Amino acid sequence: MGFPAMKIDIITIFPDFFLGPLDYGILCRARENGLVAIAVHDLRKFTRDKHRTIDDRPFGGGEGMVLKPEPLFECIESLGFAPREERVKVDARESVVLLSAQGKRFQQRVAQQLARLERIALICGRYEGVDERVAEHLADRELSIGDYVLSGGELGAAVILDAVVRLIPGAVGNEASTRQESFTAVADSGMPTEGPSSTCASNGLLDYPHYTRPAQFRGWAVPEVLISGNHEEIRRWRWKQVLEKTSRNRPDLLDPAVLSEEDQQALAFVESHHDERKGIWNEGK
Ligand code: SAH
Repeated sequence: MGFPAMKIDIITIFPDFFLGPLDYGILCRARENGLVAIAVHDLRKFTRDKHRTIDDRPFGGGEGMVLKPEPLFECIESLGFAPREERVKVDARESVVLLSAQGKRFQQRVAQQLARLERIALICGRYEGVDERVAEHLADRELSIGDYVLSGGELGAAVILDAVVRLIPGAVGNEASTRQESFTAVADSGMPTEGPSSTCASNGLLDYPHYTRPAQFRGWAVPEVLISGNHEEIRRWRWKQVLEKTSRNRPDLLDPAVLSEEDQQALAFVESHHDERKGIWNEGK
C-alpha cells in the first residue's frame, strides 16, 4: 500500500472552518502518520470574474442563492479525479461526494465503503444549495448526514471525514475496537462467539454500555457481572444489553427475523421490562 493510504479534498467557500476539526485525536494522528492527506480548497479560487462570484439567483424564482456550477467543475477537474463514468463503476477507487440534505443517508456501512477508496472529494454546499448539474454530472454520490437541514455542507463533511478516517487500517491503535462498535456487523446475526478476545460486538446494533473506575460512584455500583472475571458471563450480559438498548433507543435497527430463538426470548424479556427503567426520558412513541 502506497502512502498516504487515502487523499481527501474538501471544497468549500469557508476553508478556515476546517482549522479545528482536523487537528485533534485520531484524525490529527492519521494525518501526522501519513495515513491520510487532507487538502481544503477555497471555491472562490476557481472563479474567473473579478468579483469571484460563487453563487447566483435561482432560475424560476424563489428564495436565496444557489452555488454556481462552473467553479465546482473547474475545481474538481483541476484536482485530477477520474471521470465520473469511472467513479460510478463497482471497482471505482475514487468518489466525489456532494453534501446534500437530499442525499442518501450516510451510515456506518457507507463509511466502510468510502474507507476502502484511495481518494474522496467532499463538496460543501451553502445557501439554498448547489446547481443540480453538480449532482447529476460531477458528483458520483449525494450524501446526507441526517434528516435535518444544516446551513452548510462543512459540518457534514467533517462528520464523514471523521467516520471514514478512523476506519483506515492503522488509524485507530486497536483495530479490533472498530469492529466492535455500534452499527458494525461482523457476523450474520446473533451473539458473536468468535475468538477468545471477543468481548461482544454489536453486530449492526448499538454498542453495549461501558463502565470504568470507580466501581462505586455516588452510590451507583457498576454491574456486578463486569467485576466477576467470568468472561463468558460478561459476553452474555453485554449481548443482552445490546438487545436492550437497541430495542429501547433504535428499534428500527432490530430485525427479530434474523435473531436466534434464544435472542428473541431475551428481547421479549427486555422489552417487557422497558418501563421499569425509571428516569429515562421516553418520547412517548
Ligand atoms: N434547500 C436545501 C437545503 C440547503 S442547506 C434543502 O431544502 O434540501 C445548504 C447546504 O448545506 C446544502 O447544499 C448541503 O451542502 C448542506 N446540508 C444541509 N443539510 C445537510 C444534511 N442533512 N446533510 C449534508 N449536508 C447538508
